[in-house]
Amino acid sequence: MAKIRVLIAKPGLDGHDRGALVIAQGLRDHGMEVVYTGLRQSPAQIAKAAIQEDVDVVGLSSLSGAHRTLFPKVVEELKLFNASDIPVIGGGVIPAEDIAFLEKQGIKKIFTSGSSIDELAAYIIDLVGPMKEELTKKISHIGIAVKSLEHSIPFYTKILGLNLEGLEEIESENVKVAFLKIGESRFELLEPTSVDSPIYKFIEKRGEGIHHIAIDVEDIESRIRSLSKNGIQFINTEPKLGAHHSKIAFMHPKSTQGVLFELCEEVGGK
Ligand code: ZN
Repeated sequence: MAKIRVLIAKPGLDGHDRGALVIAQGLRDHGMEVVYTGLRQSPAQIAKAAIQEDVDVVGLSSLSGAHRTLFPKVVEELKLFNASDIPVIGGGVIPAEDIAFLEKQGIKKIFTSGSSIDELAAYIIDLVGPMKEELTKKISHIGIAVKSLEHSIPFYTKILGLNLEGLEEIESENVKVAFLKIGESRFELLEPTSVDSPIYKFIEKRGEGIHHIAIDVEDIESRIRSLSKNGIQFINTEPKLGAHHSKIAFMHPKSTQGVLFELCEEVGGK
């Protein structure tokens, strides 16, 4: 599982790093790996550290007033090292009139002292890409539409030799499901319990077969938010209750090349 890696650096001569340390810890609390360069780094040292540490983003902090020259220099140094794909963001005591100037110089965004760590973390997650932050721990399960569990289960248990973990009725979806464990993942057989069930309609239209693929995620609400921001449409943007009290949400196949993906957050562990 790749974590987002952030370099926090303080270019220039100012000798206070409490703010930078607070930010570093705050981002760690959001599950990121943070490398702090320490005080008084030159733009070249910062760029070099960013590459060596293979970070996804560089955060610069400045209280000295030298940000107008030092922040753009870090961007330039990264360019010299062919690493201009690493975005640079900045923060500290920065007058409003300097923000547009710095953004023109290639700093992606400036956070002023009024911004919260939560805002900063959310921005970094969007910037680096939602897939990086443990979106894809594993396939939770593959959903298969069947007309009858009773009729289908023996193929999985007797012929494939899988273990039937349990049967469950999910009222919100009008289905009965059977889970069969295969390695880290499962097959989820879904039998419609009423003609209102999406599974009933699926079988009517396309016959029995693979219905959806579920991806195991943590913090489903924030995954939905960041995927939505990236243009993915959801069938339900509010998570619903799935099997085993999991929280689930379906992406619309129109925005995922025809595959019905489910996000699935297992609540309270396994
Ligand atoms: Zn499912």
